[in-house]
Amino acid sequence: MQQETISVHGRLPRPHGNGPASTPIYQSATFQAESVAEQERLRTGDRFYTRYGNPTQSKAEEMVAALEGADAGLVFGSGMAAITSALLTTLQPGDHLLIQRELYGGTFEFVTKWLPRLHVDVTMFEAARAADCEQLLRPNTRAIYIESPTNPTLQLVDIRAITDCARRHGIRTMMDNTFASPFNQLPHALGVDVVVHSATKYLAGHSDLVCGAVTGRQDFINELHETRTTLGGIMDPLAAWLLIRGIKTLGVRMERHNGSAMAIAEYLSGHPAVRRVNYPFLSQHPQHALAKAQMRGGSGMISFELDADAAGAARFVESLRLFSLAGSLGGVESLATIPAATTHARLSGKERTAMGVSDGLIRLSVGIEAVEDLIADIDQALVNTARLRGIPEVVASRASTPAGERIRHDSAS
Ligand SMILES: *Cc1c(COP(=O)(O)O)cnc(C)c1O
Repeated sequence: MQQETISVHGRLPRPHGNGPASTPIYQSATFQAESVAEQERLRTGDRFYTRYGNPTQSKAEEMVAALEGADAGLVFGSGMAAITSALLTTLQPGDHLLIQRELYGGTFEFVTKWLPRLHVDVTMFEAARAADCEQLLRPNTRAIYIESPTNPTLQLVDIRAITDCARRHGIRTMMDNTFASPFNQLPHALGVDVVVHSATKYLAGHSDLVCGAVTGRQDFINELHETRTTLGGIMDPLAAWLLIRGIKTLGVRMERHNGSAMAIAEYLSGHPAVRRVNYPFLSQHPQHALAKAQMRGGSGMISFELDADAAGAARFVESLRLFSLAGSLGGVESLATIPAATTHARLSGKERTAMGVSDGLIRLSVGIEAVEDLIADIDQALVNTARLRGIPEVVASRASTPAGERIRHDSAS
């Protein structure tokens, strides 16, 4: 079955009988048993105590695992609960973790501040250097952790290069698939052992809940279940239901995100006030061929630099009317942020420069509004920004070429 079908139904066949079309919300902390013997059996299932599991969570887990093409999955109260639980299940004191440098800020924080406390050695490599994987390994390397496309510069990691290298040495690979979503990229099919998600983003898709997910082989998921039960990063049943509801429209949302972001990336790359656009599905992106090989579409994330300084970038995002100035991504509404001032603010200037995050870099999460309206919004904000710097409006604006004429709604794939 295709992703669009799986996102609506999860794994088929569905149970027979007079069941509900929508998954019920089991808003209960605990479940009763008929006997002590039964209660003992229930401990391993999803009808014992909600920190151990819950039928609404189970349905969300089945859907995410089916979408990722994995044996099994678990959902968590946040993406960070999912990521930290997956890493803690994998690593022991004395282990070495090889991890990409361009990481989500919270993950960077955990691996640089918390893992050393647990006597785990961490070394970092650049996303573009995946081919050098072999030289970066140590005898005690337990796992390699990657993220692609990266936040916020949208570089790609050659997933196959990493998993081939790890397999030769019996090393576990872990990947954050948040930015692409399982609609656009299937890491397990490329050999990744463990996939993690901030399900807050594209999976849930409506900026209305915080949640996480992990998928992998059944034996790993069983171990992870013990970690989750002990650390307690569980997802509430109501949040699990909202996640299920969000996932049902993943296919139509992602198609629109892919198509609109592609159109906006093309518009920006032809604009005289824009210095650089990062979007893997642009034909001039240095990793365009890799994008086409390992992704179905580019998703809704774009970053770009104006021909302006930090003040100019601030003026631009503050001039937007449809795009909200807000963190997070992957929702139906379009958002804009300046990573140096938000997601990457806790890093030093030197660390940011090493990651390619300049002070004027702008990140867009393109929503599902009409793309003509989004481009008109960007256009007026560019004019406003240029005015501040005394650039004649005619140069800054491409209003003479109606943006809508060059825009198609279909996806990048
Ligand atoms: C948001 C995000 C996370 C963290 O997820 P939360 O749900 O906020 O805990 C991890 N990885 C990536 C790539 C993210 O965008």
